[in-house]
Amino acid sequence: MNVPFLDLQIQYRSLRPEVDQAVATVLGNCNFILGKEVEEFERAFAEFLETGFALGISSGLDALSLGLRALGVGPGDEVIIPANTFIASALAVTGVGATPVLVDMDPATFNIDPARIEAAVTPRTKAIMPVHLYGRTCDLDPILEIARLYDLRVIEDASQAHGARYKGQRVGTLGDIGCFSFYPGKNLGAYGDGGAVATPRRDLADRIARLRNYGQEKKYHHSEKGFNHRLDTIQAAVLNVKLKHLETWNQRRAEHAARYSALLKDIPGVITPELPEPGAHVFHLYVIRSERRDELQKFLAEKGVATIIHYPIPIHLQDAYRDLGHAPEDFPHTTKLAGEILSLPMFPELTDEQIEVTVAAIRAFSEAS
Ligand SMILES: *Cc1c(COP(=O)(O)O)cnc(C)c1O
Repeated sequence: MNVPFLDLQIQYRSLRPEVDQAVATVLGNCNFILGKEVEEFERAFAEFLETGFALGISSGLDALSLGLRALGVGPGDEVIIPANTFIASALAVTGVGATPVLVDMDPATFNIDPARIEAAVTPRTKAIMPVHLYGRTCDLDPILEIARLYDLRVIEDASQAHGARYKGQRVGTLGDIGCFSFYPGKNLGAYGDGGAVATPRRDLADRIARLRNYGQEKKYHHSEKGFNHRLDTIQAAVLNVKLKHLETWNQRRAEHAARYSALLKDIPGVITPELPEPGAHVFHLYVIRSERRDELQKFLAEKGVATIIHYPIPIHLQDAYRDLGHAPEDFPHTTKLAGEILSLPMFPELTDEQIEVTVAAIRAFSEAS
């Protein structure tokens, strides 16, 4: 049996009549740009997040970029981000002309280590960008406290954590701004690119609504220099169908994670991810650690089990960020774990049998050595 890393087709087949109908309605109305489906989605997503405002944006990266701009982050400013994240978190910061200041991860959570943030604050620091990586919520209380102490803005990158809760509250709503990606493989994925910004603040929501749409207050009246970073109406129509299933899908992912962890727990050489309290991890990815990761991945591939590394090269070692002047030992946990992490197959429709096949292959690898 082959186990795919992710299978989007199963989900589409289950939603097909509803999705096809929703897309056909947009095509029939020809209201392709900021149509009523976008407004519907924005209302529904804000309600889902239990926050004031949500705005449909063209992608997760664009959501982060507009979020930073709306907070007034620009050249000369520094933004604190984790060293272990997807490149987009850093690209958003450099994209607005600011400098990313990296902080090492806590190896227990894979997320930014709150205890190391304060040492990274300088007079130029404008904002902190916690990233809820792999779907695991960051420990936000100490981060919000540092922000309060130094008068910093907080912009959450929740691109892998749609629906996760921190102490009862949805992530993406605890700071000034929360950003989401609807890249197809995300927990809530569109059928193309898409993203959103959430905020409890009306002033920021208004500013982002302008910035995403040419900086216009009303048609052809431009109060500032903006962008074209709007969520496509067709994507909003797809998201309206899929949002209703997000809680169930996240529940499935958590069940898969619990099953993986139970089955993997006695296999030597494999470290499983922490399972925090229910809701605090939505398992966009289920990431294990092995000191023989590359051999393990090759072995699994030969057995038909697909895995991916998120991410093989941390930000501080990417060629694109050579100008930050970092060495591997600047962020020792991130550098070390980049050689050990491995994401196992994870999607809501994954079967118990596929999990068992995956674990059996990992056990066989462990026993063969
Ligand atoms: C996917 C992702 C993004 C970027 O989203 P796009 O929609 O692909 O632009 C940003 N940050 C993180 C952590 C992500 O996983």
